[in-house]
Amino acid sequence: MCNCISEIEKKIHDKYPTHNGKEVESVNAHVIWIFTDDGMDKGTSTEFVMTLKGQKKKHPVEVNHTYCPFCGIKYKQEDENSTTRTDSSN
Ligand SMILES: [Zn+2]
Repeated sequence: MCNCISEIEKKIHDKYPTHNGKEVESVNAHVIWIFTDDGMDKGTSTEFVMTLKGQKKKHPVEVNHTYCPFCGIKYKQEDENSTTRTDSSN
């Protein structure tokens, strides 16, 4: 597994030590947790939005990335076809 997420969080923090006149305490990527053979690790995902006919409320569908979008290294996942559905109504 690569360190892209941590490295980019640090680069953003280094580039933006302050925002709107206030000190930036931390920068955190929206991550998903991937089950690996060694335990768990951070991964990335892309959120799609599903609209149901006749309903204004949108339902997010999160699709996990199989490869790091920054360096292209394949994420080690237990389940190769891991797709997570998230429902904000809960
Ligand atoms: Zn990477």
